[in-house]
Amino acid sequence: MSRIVYVNGAYLPESEGKISIFDRGFLFADGVYEVTAVIHGKLIDYEPHIERLERSLGEIKMGWPCSNAQLRAMHEELVKRNKIDQGWIYMQVTRGAADRDFKFPKDVAPTLIAFAQSKNLLDNPDAIKGVKVVTVPDIRWMRRDIKSVMLLAPVLGKQAAYEKGGFEAWMVEDGMVTEGTSSNAYIVKDGRVITRPLSEKILAGVTRRSLFRLAKENAVSIEERAFSPEEAYEADEAFLTSATNFVLPIVEIDDKRIGGGQPGPVSRRLREIYIEEALS
Ligand code: PLP
Repeated sequence: MSRIVYVNGAYLPESEGKISIFDRGFLFADGVYEVTAVIHGKLIDYEPHIERLERSLGEIKMGWPCSNAQLRAMHEELVKRNKIDQGWIYMQVTRGAADRDFKFPKDVAPTLIAFAQSKNLLDNPDAIKGVKVVTVPDIRWMRRDIKSVMLLAPVLGKQAAYEKGGFEAWMVEDGMVTEGTSSNAYIVKDGRVITRPLSEKILAGVTRRSLFRLAKENAVSIEERAFSPEEAYEADEAFLTSATNFVLPIVEIDDKRIGGGQPGPVSRRLREIYIEEALS
């Protein structure tokens, strides 16, 4: 079934959704994006995603492509037109189409595109079995706090993980895990969750932010510090968070079984709590 996508103000069948070959997102990865999960037709954590979009746009010196209300209406319209029960909305803003020149073009409208993807997020078999992660060097640029469409390093990292039977790659810099290629990284030791503090070295995950609030409400303590792969191998549990995976247990890191190879109680509980709230 053909999807209805959004391109610069128009809702079109996906085969008709086209952008210029001169688009700066295509030529320079000069743009930012957001992915918002949908459960039972409802956008999850929509406001924090839009706050982060605003920050990303500001950091790359771009203005808003449309009003806040239009952006929300676009998300809701895509859910409706594509009859999305579970899945997500991907949206991308670029600095627009212009002659190829590194410096910012003058008087060019940004490109705003979005599409919906249907996927069963609640009954995810990976959440029951747990997933495998492999470590790779973090070869990204220095501003990972910006949700940039420049994703070649994550593509290479994820592919390396996939080729070793992994679901995700954890990126390592100066001997410490930064984050996953498209997720934040956590270990659990003696009931305490450990994750890297926010900085320009990682993306401030929206799911991470919700997890912090829910953990506090449920008396789960979180320690914000970097950890090494070696410490992770010895952890009681490990998990990742992202908008479309929620809280996903990890049972193997670099061929080392974590927590006896089963999703651990803290990870399972946090997933349950996150989903409970999303459904409420
Ligand atoms: N870190 C990176 C590098 C990501 O690309 C993502 C999501 O795509 C995340 C973390 C998780 O962020 P969120 O929870 O907002 O999906």
